[in-house]
Amino acid sequence: MDFNFTPEQELFRQSVREFAERYVRPRIKEMEEAKDVPREIMQLMAEQGFYGLRFVEEWGGQGGDNVMFAILNEELARCYMSVAARCMMQCLMGTEFINLCGTEEQKQKFLVPAIKGEKYGTMCMTEPAGGTDLGAMQTTAVRDGDEYVINGQKNWITGAHAVDFYTVAAKTDPEAGFRGVDLFLVERDRPGVEVGKKIDKLIAFASGCYDLFFNNVRVPADHLFGGEEGQGFTLLRNILNDIRVHTAALGLGIARAAYEESVEYAKQREAYGRPIVRWQAIQHKLARMRIDIEAARLMIYYAAWRMDQGLPVNVEAAACKWHITEAVLRVVDDATRIFGAYGASMDMNIQRYFRDARWLLYGAGTQTMILNIIGAEIRRE
Ligand SMILES: Cc1cc2nc3c(=O)[nH]c(=O)nc-3n(C[C@H](O)[C@H](O)[C@H](O)COP(=O)(O)OP(=O)(O)OC[C@H]3O[C@@H](n4cnc5c(N)ncnc54)[C@H](O)[C@@H]3O)c2cc1C
Repeated sequence: MDFNFTPEQELFRQSVREFAERYVRPRIKEMEEAKDVPREIMQLMAEQGFYGLRFVEEWGGQGGDNVMFAILNEELARCYMSVAARCMMQCLMGTEFINLCGTEEQKQKFLVPAIKGEKYGTMCMTEPAGGTDLGAMQTTAVRDGDEYVINGQKNWITGAHAVDFYTVAAKTDPEAGFRGVDLFLVERDRPGVEVGKKIDKLIAFASGCYDLFFNNVRVPADHLFGGEEGQGFTLLRNILNDIRVHTAALGLGIARAAYEESVEYAKQREAYGRPIVRWQAIQHKLARMRIDIEAARLMIYYAAWRMDQGLPVNVEAAACKWHITEAVLRVVDDATRIFGAYGASMDMNIQRYFRDARWLLYGAGTQTMILNIIGAEIRRE
């Protein structure tokens, strides 16, 4: 058993941290105010090779593993969640189905430019009527000769305004519940695709979530991922564990940022003539934060390592997501208490961690659904 990161992984962590400190941190205020991530920052991440980290060299990727990808997500989120979220969307949910089951031509046309930062993608599942219950999805895709015609509305779509293509979930068989859901590649410039209003939200101001409409949007039949109808749920299941572990890594990044800044603050802020870190009540908060972070780190990198070994990870990935969500919410809450009134100041980072941590409640499935998944696995054991 070896708990050490390899020298290559340590070096990679260092390089991501340096990138974030140099190019992202100085622009956080600007991005929070603009409520968007500028294209230059997205492009800089491409130049660092982040978007190709998970993909094989044949398509211009780096052939990196899940441990490396978790490091990327953790370090970017430690600096700024909105950028980390947009990066993860580009590396994983926005491009993974092209990687897994796109045609050679689709890979050349979308995946290769996405790795270079020339094209961007995002994932469109959630609808106004709900995100959890896939079977209730109302967007439809109807076969018409050599094409599918897509109709429906999505919402909460991260980066919908700034991408070139979408992976869209739609029902090919409205009677078949969640098994009737399929996934389609839809270019943004197809007639009938319309980006709607931006959602004003508490979390990750700059990640940019939008409504999205599909009005009689025609795509060629080979834009159906998986080649035949009824594959959507199975395809989705293939990447859910990845999404859960890497969403947890985002949470770990936020928790670390809140903890590190709390330690620093507690050492310099004085009350009753001594730094507040000397008071046991403050130490206990910091201790609990540290415990949560140590446990989170072990769970995330263990699950990532299991994925890299090709071992089953259903319970580990879901447990990661559930535990880290609860842990990061505790950590950011304690951080706001240690900072006193400054925890509520919009000029400090702590309020941002407090808000952004709540992403984990929804991304990669709600906490209730994660418990359902673990429960179902226990039942089957
Ligand atoms: C910042 C942000 C970014 C997002 N980005 C994207 C994106 O890019 N693409 C995308 O498709 N979506 C995105 N989403 C949407 C997200 O995936 C959904 O919020 C999530 O799937 C939950 O769906 P919902 O919000 O509609 O909740 P609902 O499905 O309406 O659930 C509401 C509540 O009911 C509970 N519930 C539901 N079913 C059950 C059950 N069977 N048993 C017990 N409890 C249940 C849930 O746990 C939850 O607490 C984003 C959301 C946020 C906040």
